[in-house]
Amino acid sequence: MDKQAHKVVIVGGGAGGLELAAKLGRRFGPDQVFLVDSSPDHIWKPSLHEVAAGTLDIHREGLSYAMMAKDSGFTFIYGAFAGVDRAARSIRLDAVMDEQHELFPAREIAYDTLVLAVGSRSNFFGTPGAREYAVALDSTEQAEHFRKLFLRKLVIANNGSQPPRPLNIAIVGGGATGVELAAELVEASKNIRYYGLDRLDPAHSIRITLLEGAGRILSALPPKMSDAAQRLLQERGIEVKTSVRVASVQEDSLTDAEGRQYPSDICVWAAGIEAPAFLAGLGLNVNHRNQIVVDRMLRTDDPHIFAIGDCAQAPWDKEGEFLPARAQVAHQQADFLIPLLRDRIEGREPPQATFRFKDYGSLVSVGHTRGVGSLMGVLSGKSWFVEGLVARMMYMSLHLMHHLAVLGAGRTFVMAIGRLLLKRSAPRVKLH
Ligand SMILES: Cc1cc2nc3c(=O)[nH]c(=O)nc-3n(C[C@H](O)[C@H](O)[C@H](O)COP(=O)(O)OP(=O)(O)OC[C@H]3O[C@@H](n4cnc5c(N)ncnc54)[C@H](O)[C@@H]3O)c2cc1C
Repeated sequence: MDKQAHKVVIVGGGAGGLELAAKLGRRFGPDQVFLVDSSPDHIWKPSLHEVAAGTLDIHREGLSYAMMAKDSGFTFIYGAFAGVDRAARSIRLDAVMDEQHELFPAREIAYDTLVLAVGSRSNFFGTPGAREYAVALDSTEQAEHFRKLFLRKLVIANNGSQPPRPLNIAIVGGGATGVELAAELVEASKNIRYYGLDRLDPAHSIRITLLEGAGRILSALPPKMSDAAQRLLQERGIEVKTSVRVASVQEDSLTDAEGRQYPSDICVWAAGIEAPAFLAGLGLNVNHRNQIVVDRMLRTDDPHIFAIGDCAQAPWDKEGEFLPARAQVAHQQADFLIPLLRDRIEGREPPQATFRFKDYGSLVSVGHTRGVGSLMGVLSGKSWFVEGLVARMMYMSLHLMHHLAVLGAGRTFVMAIGRLLLKRSAPRVKLH
């Protein structure tokens, strides 16, 4: 078979899709490996709570897809996926516009193998008012929107009544995103007086409440982690309320199922995920959260289409359960597809191996110097608990591993040193 003939198109350059494109691109080059994304820059999604809090500058953190395409040998195609013609094996992309002009027209891209890796977004579960009044952290734009809103509300609180009224931030969802954002906002608050907000006292002027529907925060993780995270959050002055089901969101408050009200100048929604709605219109088998149903080889019910990461519902070893929406899953699925796609590109019968998720545990950041984690012993299969700076350092290494997979060792090393040096000359918090 002609090697040039087989084109792999990957839609979504996130935790899974970008790693897959980079690793395949290094081997097969830009005529065979194509990455489509609706954004020109990549951000490691687990960093979004830091962008929202202003402790990470998106202009320094974002990586240009075009630059990575050049380095790793794939072709980057800028545009939002709009649909697929499965019979013709081509996808449709919407036109790309800047504020006024069309940068790229609507296009069709042919594929031999298509990999869908478009991630997920917040699930509001139809809660009245949530879509209108709550902020989600699904994208860089939303994280930036939160950061600016946070600053605006801080300025209003600072310049308003005497003494200033406390700013209430309600975070709905005590999973990793909610816990990490709450802790990060405390870090950000420590620096506000350097922004001239000198009438605000970080310890009392910003009230953060974390509302969780289950009986404990981090309910998908071991109870020991929940206890430690709750203790660390409370030590930082964050109010943690469990077994609270938010029933509606208003402009300045939340109401729970019992009718209790919680003041909220800013409400952040981090209560669950669903895959993008457009996936339900592709004619592929999807679940109630729009996730594409895949088998143990990550195949959809179309033999030419695979799906990985948050947008896929993949079976777990635990009978009747599905893999969680985690970066670790997306990363391992990308690695699993590499030999399989290599054989497809080279016209060989792909290996019959099935994907098995190796759970190395979970780490959650609770501020800049603390974290909690549960790590799985590789040989023993037992989990062990880590807390404090060690857990925080291990958490940071996950981001580094993503860079390693995408950029390779040399560039990752140079970038890590560069960022370390830049940090010394940049503000700790970017509120402006
Ligand atoms: C604040 C936060 C903290 C998190 N912390 C952790 C953590 O500590 N550990 C962990 O394991 N997981 C964490 N997660 C979850 C983790 O980020 C996801 O599980 C992971 O990013 C999923 O990878 P993915 O490749 O499926 O999708 P993503 O990384 O979300 O990438 C999807 C890509 O698809 C692109 N895309 C979307 N729609 C289109 C379209 N129509 N056309 C073209 N491109 C499109 C997007 O631009 C994006 O680049 C966190 C998530 C958030 C929001």
